[in-house]
Amino acid sequence: MGLHDQYGLTQVINARGPFTPVGVSRSGERVAAAAAEALSGFFVMEELQDLASRTIARVTGAEAGTVVHCTASAITLSVAASMTGQAPERVAALPDTTGMPARVVVPAVHAIDYGHPLLQDVRLAGATPVLAGSDTECTLADLEAALAHPDTTCLLLVSSRLVRGAFVPFDRAVAAAHRRGVPVVVDGAAQDLRIGELLGTGADLVAVSGQKYLGSPTAGLVIGRAGMVGAVRAQEKGIGRAMKASKEAVIGVLTALRVRQELDLDAWRREQTDKAARFVERAGTLPGITASADRDPTGLPFPRARIAVDPAEAGLDATAVATALRTGSPSIWLMTHDQDKGELLLELVPLTDGEFEVVLARLAEILAHPPQDQDRARVSA
Ligand SMILES: *Cc1c(COP(=O)(O)O)cnc(C)c1O
Repeated sequence: MGLHDQYGLTQVINARGPFTPVGVSRSGERVAAAAAEALSGFFVMEELQDLASRTIARVTGAEAGTVVHCTASAITLSVAASMTGQAPERVAALPDTTGMPARVVVPAVHAIDYGHPLLQDVRLAGATPVLAGSDTECTLADLEAALAHPDTTCLLLVSSRLVRGAFVPFDRAVAAAHRRGVPVVVDGAAQDLRIGELLGTGADLVAVSGQKYLGSPTAGLVIGRAGMVGAVRAQEKGIGRAMKASKEAVIGVLTALRVRQELDLDAWRREQTDKAARFVERAGTLPGITASADRDPTGLPFPRARIAVDPAEAGLDATAVATALRTGSPSIWLMTHDQDKGELLLELVPLTDGEFEVVLARLAEILAHPPQDQDRARVSA
């Protein structure tokens, strides 16, 4: 009996991407087996973290790396590291930042809410966020003005679909900060496939998620300069105690990095492109549906399937289709940020062949028998 049956839990098909409220991602067999084995053993945690640092350095070309609880903690601990360095009395004092460089400049267009406000990750370390630019744009001049103070760190977010507005090219932003001796921390949560590119901007620390596309247990990787990574690790004796990586997470990350290194990325990319094309072809034959394959807006190397719903022909609109999928069994989750424009997006990467078929079958069924208004009202009540 599976866990869902045992505990009476909702069966989920996740076509929404690495979304935290539905458990983010699916670990592969090797990662799951390694994490399970780690759970029943003891380890010298410092040795595990030293190994993680060497492995991350070898895989990414960075000087060093460490594993913390998640990306949110990676951001908080990177900010903390920029304020304390490796000074034990400073580490122990946080979040009291008296006498420390506690200003953190964030372009206003990057101050997103990814489930909670990004700025809270900054404040959690005791630092004070300072917004640069407006809600629609942050120019190089805006950024330079905000950086032109002592005691500053700069936090940047890699393009995510949550970002609204224009920002200068990353390498220029990093160079502007470095001209003033300001360290740069990058939130690249879902960008583990682009770590090299992000480190290439010159950023001092890059935070990426282990549990998103890398498929490890919940973990945040902090990657970059050895001194800064050392200062992140120093937080273990401070606020980082509440944000530590477990042994199964570190082992899971090590295994996921090994799996990633062995992956034939070109073949994988072709597979994802074919999968999206097959979905688009079949969904496009359904009444009232126009389907297409979309490039990922954040530069990730796989397409997403977009379906546009014509309510006149389909008998219901995009929002009603998404609701019917989510409230059915299994519960099917997809990206609904464009549903008001009549469009739904599906990320097909983690779907098994069986799940792929279930999504198409349920879509066909909903369009053949649109739920009655009455049912919909009951569902949303
Ligand atoms: C997912 C995400 C985070 C947080 O990641 P966790 O590992 O869940 O803490 C932070 N920033 C961005 C842009 C994200 O997408």
